[in-house]
Amino acid sequence: MDTPWQYPDFDAHEGLYFVTDEKSGLRAIIAMHSTHLGPAAGGTRFWHYAEDSEALTDALRLSRGMSYKNSMAGLPLGGGKAVILADKDRTKTPEMLSAFGRAVQSLGGKYVTAEDVGISVADITQISTETKFIAGLPVEGGAVGGDPGPHTSLGVFLGIKAAVKRALGKESLAGLHIAMQGAGSVASGVCRHAAAEGAKLSIADVDAARAGKLAEETGGTVVSPDQILSLDADVVSPCALGAILTEASIAALRTPIVAGGANNQLATPEDGKRLQERGILYAPDYVINAGGIINVSTEYLGDGGPELVRSRIDAIPGRLEQIWSESATSGSNPAAVADAMAQKLIGRG
Ligand code: NAD
Repeated sequence: MDTPWQYPDFDAHEGLYFVTDEKSGLRAIIAMHSTHLGPAAGGTRFWHYAEDSEALTDALRLSRGMSYKNSMAGLPLGGGKAVILADKDRTKTPEMLSAFGRAVQSLGGKYVTAEDVGISVADITQISTETKFIAGLPVEGGAVGGDPGPHTSLGVFLGIKAAVKRALGKESLAGLHIAMQGAGSVASGVCRHAAAEGAKLSIADVDAARAGKLAEETGGTVVSPDQILSLDADVVSPCALGAILTEASIAALRTPIVAGGANNQLATPEDGKRLQERGILYAPDYVINAGGIINVSTEYLGDGGPELVRSRIDAIPGRLEQIWSESATSGSNPAAVADAMAQKLIGRG
């Protein structure tokens, strides 16, 4: 049987904690990839995994991703992630969340949690009854915190503008065609910003009603989810699912730019190279979508107000520029350049 050290996604993680609370039925894994820059920070995912090994793979992979994301966002935070292994019915109780909070607390601040897939603000509030090493709590007006979505959207919008400037030499999105995959939290914010600047939007979501509502609000057109990635557009913006950039989908792209907020867009590292070979400018996902974690971290660290959040989000285009310039010089693709930069920042380069 494989030990955690033998998992393909094991990457010298500093700590792995297997949490069991028989009374509440809690089973969780807390993975701390790196604390080189600060406490290992990253949300908690609540998910039903067919096999326990999939939960461990997710925790290992996602926590490393958080090390990269936090370091590239210039945050004084390391990378971590937790997964709670839900049963088939996704039973979630206050007792279970409290037990998870006690586990986070027992790590003494080496791991800091927040929302991720399957964990709501209400769940975070319950977990916070047992630990102070947590962010993403509801906030009073004017304070930093709350829903990270709008901050992620702003960073993605600014990143798209930077890509447009680099690839098309244009300062504005006015008149440009953006193909938006998704009509959820991140996509909506990006569409609103882009529409305000005069972009033409094509929007696709498996939830057709959601796509329709967003299209109506932003003057866009609804497109089938099967067609969105192969539209003839200036920008394809993946803001829904991961692993959508594959050998097949990259071959079908008809856009000079791929820049969107979804996590883990490249199905494999080779897909970063495939985009480059097709001459398509790619904005590495964890760099362009860091606005949300920037907001969450400022809430947790209490090191500034909305102005600091804004200035950190405003730094996203510059970081992308740095990546693209280095890619142009070295010939390495932008995703690989970003990984190498992040590894250096966390002391592993
Ligand atoms: P969301 O759940 O609000 O929206 C996702 C949308 O994608 C939903 O409307 C869903 O119906 C749609 N969708 C699912 N499958 C689809 C498909 N095949 N084609 C088209 N649409 C599809 O989620 P979100 O918060 O907007 O997050 C979107 C992406 O951005 C995710 O990958 C998430 O991990 C990433 N992300 C989000 C944040 C944040 O602050 N919310 C931060 C960083 C990264």
